[in-house]
Amino acid sequence: MTELPPELPSAYHRRLPYGERMSAEPLIGSPFFPFEGDLQVVPLADPVLPEPPRRGADGGPPCPKCADPDGSVIWRDEQWTLKAFEPTGLPLVAILEPREHYRLDNLPPELTATLGSVIQRVAKAIQSIDSVGRTHFNRWGDGSEHFHLWFLARPLGMMQLRGAMIAAWDDMLPKIPAGEFTANTRLVAAALAKDGGEAVGSVGAE
Ligand SMILES: [Zn+2]
Repeated sequence: MTELPPELPSAYHRRLPYGERMSAEPLIGSPFFPFEGDLQVVPLADPVLPEPPRRGADGGPPCPKCADPDGSVIWRDEQWTLKAFEPTGLPLVAILEPREHYRLDNLPPELTATLGSVIQRVAKAIQSIDSVGRTHFNRWGDGSEHFHLWFLARPLGMMQLRGAMIAAWDDMLPKIPAGEFTANTRLVAAALAKDGGEAVGSVGAE
């Protein structure tokens, strides 16, 4: 065992081999891992403490959602908005956010009460795209403080794209045509609006 710097915040942190490269071996050959061959993992970086403020947090850069509340929005109701930015490698990637600035830990009861049903509605709406087999959703929240969930449309039958590596595939697959992206966003917005809220037609408008 090497030295244990006492200033690190936990036994977990003190155990890690900073500066060393982990082996990619546990991932190689997994049906969900999109790389093969000799892979070099980047050296493990030291922890940054205290963590730098996220966008929209006190002392951090401005909140992009609050600075441009309707930017890229394809659907909204009184509480929530759904954004889609531009064509990527998946049929659709979208972000669900509350209209007001909250974190997950201070989301008020009136929003937590509708979060489950709006997730269900967005997932179902995205799945109505003919190329989509399932809708993945994730909360990371390490970039912006404003609570947001990512929705990633997993193409039908593309079993390599199951699991978390779908985000890597999204960056590597050929971008879908702009017209198809527009059609997908409109389909999803219209499907959501059937059960409440309004479709916002600005995205990809010709
Ligand atoms: Zn905000």
